[in-house]
Amino acid sequence: MNEAMAMSISASVRATVRITEIECIPLNLPFHVPFKISSGAARPVVETLIVKVHTDQDVTGIGETQAWRRQGSGETLAGQINVIKEHFEPRLIGRSPFDVASLMHDLNNAMYATLYSQAAVGDALYDAAGKLLGVPVWQLLGGKCRDKIRVAAVLSMKGTIDSLLESAEQFYSNGFRHLVLKIGVDAEEDIRNVEALRKRFGNTIELRVDANAALDYDTALRLLTRLEPYDIECAEQPLGIWDIEGMSRLARAIRIPIMADESVSTDHGLLEIIRKGAASSAQTKVAKNGGIYHIRRLWHLMAAAGLGINPGNHPSTSVATSSVAQMCGSWPGALMAGVFAVGVSGALADDIVLNRIVPVNGEIAIPDGPGFGIDLDEAALRRFRIDS
Ligand SMILES: [Mg+2]
Repeated sequence: MNEAMAMSISASVRATVRITEIECIPLNLPFHVPFKISSGAARPVVETLIVKVHTDQDVTGIGETQAWRRQGSGETLAGQINVIKEHFEPRLIGRSPFDVASLMHDLNNAMYATLYSQAAVGDALYDAAGKLLGVPVWQLLGGKCRDKIRVAAVLSMKGTIDSLLESAEQFYSNGFRHLVLKIGVDAEEDIRNVEALRKRFGNTIELRVDANAALDYDTALRLLTRLEPYDIECAEQPLGIWDIEGMSRLARAIRIPIMADESVSTDHGLLEIIRKGAASSAQTKVAKNGGIYHIRRLWHLMAAAGLGINPGNHPSTSVATSSVAQMCGSWPGALMAGVFAVGVSGALADDIVLNRIVPVNGEIAIPDGPGFGIDLDEAALRRFRIDS
C-alpha cells in the first residue's frame, strides 16, 4: 500500500469510525512482594481496571487505571465501573474515538472528581486512534523526541537494612541509577537506610526519599534537616495532601528540594502549589491525574513554572506503563527519571500483555507499535479478573 492510499484509507476511517461499547475488566494483580509504604498495611494485590473501547472498525482501544483507595484516591473497582458504564458509556457510544478533546471534556463535565475513571477511558481513546491510523500514540502527541527514557526504582519498606540493600543491589546491577526510598514511619530507621545506601553506592546513584504524605511539619523539618548531608535529589510529598502551606514553609526551611505527588490531582491543585512555591517538582500518575489528556496539561503548566516533571504511576501493567512512555517519547523538554515503570520493574508479579515492556539497563524503550504498541494477553486477563 502506498502512502497516498494509506492516507485516504485513514481519512475514511476517521470520518466513519464509531464507538460501540466500553468494556470494563476488573483485576486483582499480585505484587511480587506485598507493597509497603508509610500509610496502611502492606498490600498483596493492586486493584486494576482494564478498559476496552470497542469500535465498529474491528479496532479496540485499551486503557488502564487502578482503585488505589489511599492518598487522595477514594476509588473502588465497583465504583469506577459504575461511573464508566452508567455515566461515561452513554456519552461515548456512536461517537468517534478521534474526538478525544470533545469526549474528555464531556466526561469531565459528566461527573466531578472522576480522573481515576477518566484515565482508562481517555487513554483507550488514544490507543484506538493510534491503531486506527497505524501509528504509535507518540506520533499523535507530536512525534518522537527520544527513543528511550531513564526510570527510577522504588524501594518499598523492608524489615531490615540487609533486605533493603539486597533489593537496591539488584536494581543497581540491572542498571538502575535512581533509587526512591520510602520513608515516614520511623525517622531513625529512615536515616539508617539512607546512610546505608550512600555508604554502599557512594555518589553513583541519585537518591530520592518519599514519605507519601505521612509526616507532620515538625517531624519533616527535623528528619529532612538531618538528611541534608546525604545529597538527596528531592523529598517527595513529606506532608499531608492538604498541607500546601506547610510544604511551602518546608521548601524554604530545608535545602532538599521538595516534590509534590499526592497533592497534585487537578490542574487547579497544581496551580496552587506553583503559586505558593510549595514544590520544585511534581509527579503525575496515569490514574491519579486522568491519563494522557489531562497529564499533558499538567506537564505544560509545570514546564512553564520551572517545576521538574516526574513521570510516575501507581504500580501498573505494561498498559499504563506504555501510556507514560508515549508521553515521555513525545515530550521535547527535560524529564526526571520517573517511577512510571515500577510495576514492570519487579513490583508486580505478572503482566497482562503479550509484548511486555521491561526496563533494560534502567531505561524504558518508547514502544513503536500502533497505539500503545501492546497486545493484551486474554488468558492472563482471565486469570486475574475478579468478576467471573
Ligand atoms: Mg509518591
